[in-house]
Amino acid sequence: MRYVVSVSHESERAAIIEVGLRLYQKGLVTATEGNISMRVAGGHLVTASGVSKGSMTPEHVIFVDHEGRGTPGGLAVSTEDPMHLAIYRRRPDVQAVVHAHPPAATAFSVAHMPVDPWILAEAVVLLGRVPLTRYAMPGTVELANIVTEGLGKGSAALLANHGAITVGATLTQAHHRMETLEHVARVAVMARLLGGARELSSSDVDRLLGSTSGPYRWPR
Ligand SMILES: [Zn+2]
Repeated sequence: MRYVVSVSHESERAAIIEVGLRLYQKGLVTATEGNISMRVAGGHLVTASGVSKGSMTPEHVIFVDHEGRGTPGGLAVSTEDPMHLAIYRRRPDVQAVVHAHPPAATAFSVAHMPVDPWILAEAVVLLGRVPLTRYAMPGTVELANIVTEGLGKGSAALLANHGAITVGATLTQAHHRMETLEHVARVAVMARLLGGARELSSSDVDRLLGSTSGPYRWPR
């Protein structure tokens, strides 16, 4: 047997595989880009290195302990796992992390322009301010520290000349935030062609943030 497949975390692995497929089908990752993780008892589950997110199987989701150690004899974990580990260490509220290279959001990161979430209600509620973190070599602890620092208490961040990261209280929430980030980035680019987006008023933003229900409010 080439690698050890743990039978534990069956439903969590299935959920990560499903999110990977949806990211791939929507074009938010291509080739073997992107990585997805979920906090579990004793550590986290993360996608393996060098695998297409559109064709993952349970052995492509690897358990990593609190020290960042993968499963002995298993596949190599994502090269960006230090970023996931650093976020879990700093943010006890975060239960899942999604890293992708969505084209429109990545265009903002390449242009070193922040995405303005204050133009769409769902972006206000699901994302809030999206910081742009400075470039560092992918897969390094330096990048992990820069992104974790830049993300702060937020829900999403752009990684300069690289892509985007979202976090959530659930895997679904982190995934939805990535979809919303790409959606608002696309809308912002299109609005520029039409002369520029108009932001929501501060009272409309306050009303969105203050409401406990509504179409874009995450169920609690
Ligand atoms: Zn990346």
